[in-house]
Amino acid sequence: MENKKLTTASGRPYVDHEDSLTAGARGPVLLEDYILHEKLAHFNRERIPERIVHAKGTGAFGTFTVTNDITKYTKAKIFNEIGKQTKVFVRFSTVGGEKGSADSERDPRGFAVKFYTEDGNWDLVGNNTPVFFIKDAKKFPDFIHTQKRHPRTNLKSATMMWDFWSLNPESLHQVLILMSDRGTPFGYRHMNGYGSHTYSMINKDNERVFVKFHFKTAQGIKNLNGPQANEMRKTDMDFAQRDLYENIEKGNFPKWNLKIQVMTEAEAETAKVNPFDVTKVWPHAEFPLIDAGVMELNTMPMNYFQDVEQAAFAPAHIVDGIGFSPDKMLQGRILSYPDAQRYRLGTNYEQIPVNRCPYMTNNYQRDGYMRVDGNGQDQPNYFPNSFDDITADQNYREPAQKLFSDVADRFDRNGEGESDHFSQPGNLYKIMTAEEKTSTINNIVDSMSAIDGPKKDEIISRQLCHWFRADMELGMRIAKGLNFDVSKHMNA
Ligand code: NDP
Repeated sequence: MENKKLTTASGRPYVDHEDSLTAGARGPVLLEDYILHEKLAHFNRERIPERIVHAKGTGAFGTFTVTNDITKYTKAKIFNEIGKQTKVFVRFSTVGGEKGSADSERDPRGFAVKFYTEDGNWDLVGNNTPVFFIKDAKKFPDFIHTQKRHPRTNLKSATMMWDFWSLNPESLHQVLILMSDRGTPFGYRHMNGYGSHTYSMINKDNERVFVKFHFKTAQGIKNLNGPQANEMRKTDMDFAQRDLYENIEKGNFPKWNLKIQVMTEAEAETAKVNPFDVTKVWPHAEFPLIDAGVMELNTMPMNYFQDVEQAAFAPAHIVDGIGFSPDKMLQGRILSYPDAQRYRLGTNYEQIPVNRCPYMTNNYQRDGYMRVDGNGQDQPNYFPNSFDDITADQNYREPAQKLFSDVADRFDRNGEGESDHFSQPGNLYKIMTAEEKTSTINNIVDSMSAIDGPKKDEIISRQLCHWFRADMELGMRIAKGLNFDVSKHMNA
């Protein structure tokens, strides 16, 4: 076999990868050593902007297989036949930490799935929690600032976090889940994934229903408790990456069962709890889980940067038979995710292999940085035209979206009918085992104990009110753990 020759990026074979071109053995270095320039200059540009959220992650390829007929709800081709298989790429992540942060941090976990379907790539970009901290994307930058580093100390700040959460009681449900041991899952294989938002499904008769997506882990739920997570951060900060990599490499392929909940448009109109509020779940008793399929991850990417760092997910990427809903957080993410990818990877990010649709793409987008797919060759770059045969196929038209109100205004997100932030977290606390309750309370007390500064008591008492409103026992146990004299502060 012929040896491969060392070459420059432009393909010129060269002889010396280690010693610079110098005037004499002891230097100085000559400007004309363009190979040295190329090497150093490329190195300087190895990092692309870190994701502002979900920076630390891992990913794998796999397969989604349909196990149950849900075609009465959706005409999406991915679901059109039991046994049908579709390739997927999944990226798991933590949210608040930097790219080098520990995998065992208390944080929601990103659970982003790209299905390479015949009708285009469908991204279901969710978390390991069924709900979220806020219900309007306008609050997202403020919220995330509180999860990042303090502007002066450059340290994470429990004061910022609890100040924000206590001032935004709609966060309580997600905060309780985060503070339970599900906030520190045992790697990525043992957690559920949720689409979190309400989406719609559209069937072949163009009828719309609303849906929630749930990926239930087939490995069983397994978490680290607070002390175990602290220990894991010290002993193996890349535990979740290692656990996924090692299991897939040895053929122990993780699986998740995809299930959906379905709500009709008529039910959405009369639902007591706003079905488009991402801080709420749809109770299983009213909206039972319906099987859809199973997802298996079986191949680690050959190169992390190429496929994981450059993976670009966006809830805007839906396919025929799947639609959006009025969920305000979802609506904001439809804008912000593709925008983030254009910033991180460039306007042609969907040409990168992991993001590229393996089936047809035809449009009149041209040029831009890193255009590498032929750029439409010599074909017309405008529509309509008299030369090509690309048509806008009316068979893909979505049914009109029902509006649930006929006035446009700035509504209080927590106004009338939208202000029960407490019942659902209360329900969750009640179904926890005694051990889960104790662990959750310990985690809350640990975290809230780090609140400091002149507003400490104000923040603690405001947050305690929320815990009390969710469940009296929960509030009492947290107050006791914090050694906080409730009567003194709450009557003040
Ligand atoms: P169910 O008893 O039918 O469902 C309870 C759900 O809670 C199960 O899906 C279970 O997940 C999940 N769960 C258990 N412990 C935790 C935890 N520490 N953190 C997060 N989820 C947990 O009751 P309902 O549907 O009436 O919901 C009751 C409460 O359960 C809700 O208020 C919500 O907080 C929580 N929940 C509800 C979900 C839903 O979509 N309805 C989804 C997830 C949580 P698993 O079976 O995988 O163990």
